[in-house]
Amino acid sequence: MINVAILGSTGSIGTQTLEVIAANPDLFRVRVLTAYSNHSLLRQQIERFRPDFAVLTSDRAAQTFREAGVPAGLRFAQGEGCLLEAAAYPTADIVVNSLVGFAGLAPSIACINAGKTLAIANKETLVAAGDLVMKLAAAKQVKVVPVDSEHSAIAQCLAGETASAVKRLLLTASGGPFRGRKLPEIAQVSLAECLKHPNWSMGRKITIDSATLMNKGLEVIEARWLFDVDYERIDVVVHPQSIVHSMVEFVDGSVKGQLGLPDMKLPIQYALNQGVRLDSAFTRLDFTQALTLTFEPPDLDTFRALPLAYEAGRRGGTFPCVMNAANEIGVQAFIDGKIGFVGMYDVVEHVLNQHQGSSSPDLAAYMAADDWARQAAEKYINKVVR
Ligand code: NDP
Ligand code: MG
Repeated sequence: MINVAILGSTGSIGTQTLEVIAANPDLFRVRVLTAYSNHSLLRQQIERFRPDFAVLTSDRAAQTFREAGVPAGLRFAQGEGCLLEAAAYPTADIVVNSLVGFAGLAPSIACINAGKTLAIANKETLVAAGDLVMKLAAAKQVKVVPVDSEHSAIAQCLAGETASAVKRLLLTASGGPFRGRKLPEIAQVSLAECLKHPNWSMGRKITIDSATLMNKGLEVIEARWLFDVDYERIDVVVHPQSIVHSMVEFVDGSVKGQLGLPDMKLPIQYALNQGVRLDSAFTRLDFTQALTLTFEPPDLDTFRALPLAYEAGRRGGTFPCVMNAANEIGVQAFIDGKIGFVGMYDVVEHVLNQHQGSSSPDLAAYMAADDWARQAAEKYINKVVR
């Protein structure tokens, strides 16, 4: 039996993780569930999966939850600090971190410090502080297993291979809803258009990141740390059908890819069972029907997030952390209607240009850089809005 903690159980990845667990009740048991404010869904999940511990980080939502009664046998806690306890909860073996944003970093570190396997959906953990997180995981001999479909695909391609055999990683990208459009057109797109991803149904932030291609930029940095491959050997290939989830090119010229219909339950299940395949009822590719797979290079002039992410990654230190924070603020400002689509690139670029950077940062330095970047981004947005 594998005992699972899910941080962010009410989100897109969290609910799909519970679907995988529900389909394999003899293999997986839920021990910990956390949400931000969705107390009614959290309650349903608690009633169904009977965890030992549950957290609501919003005090208001927690109050409503308590008023309706804490289920018998459940330990319940509230506030962001309790995510650290959730990530290190003694009865769990593996922690699925499906929180959104930089808020996921401290729980990831708490999980590793507690010696638990970290199934990482929260890519912002690795973007902001990949160096520190992977070093800590190595020191603690803790496995960090990818949940993101591209990184799961790469891990599947690398199974049975040696690091010296790898020539390059090829991350596939759908290209998002605005693929093929040029600058004057994308400058006008609305929030509603951004939220219509052609192939995947996901949380709001990652859906917007997919439209700007910042998601792919974040994934390049995530791949750099998960697989210890430098940026010169990580390429992005646009593949609009989202069937090939990523590829690895080897030194002999052979390319391996992992294929499947776009369904996050497959990489989630592969991560939960730590690379051991399980039977599944997921809908399968049907090769008796015509299937066209196409590949093209990304449009780096229009979708500036991708070159910005490479640049931040190459500069290293606190630059990716700062880029991530500026992007989080930029995405929220776009959602709030304060800035347009291209404004999201401008915020990130402005904040990166202002940043002094520091090499070999510790956790406190990453926290300070994140804080600084959020303020710098807010200041910039307030200036352009006025
Ligand atoms: P969602 O927005 O759907 O879910 C986020 C979850 O985290 C919810 O349970 C939410 O609670 C909780 N949460 C959000 N903010 C906070 C916070 N500040 N403190 C505590 N809890 C919080 O996100 P996704 O599931 O789409 O994404 C999760 C992560 O996985 C992201 O890093 C994303 O990039 C990554 N990812 C997602 C994929 C997908 O298909 N969705 C694919 C690959 C990676 P509540 O519901 O109460 O708000
Ligand atoms: Mg992905």
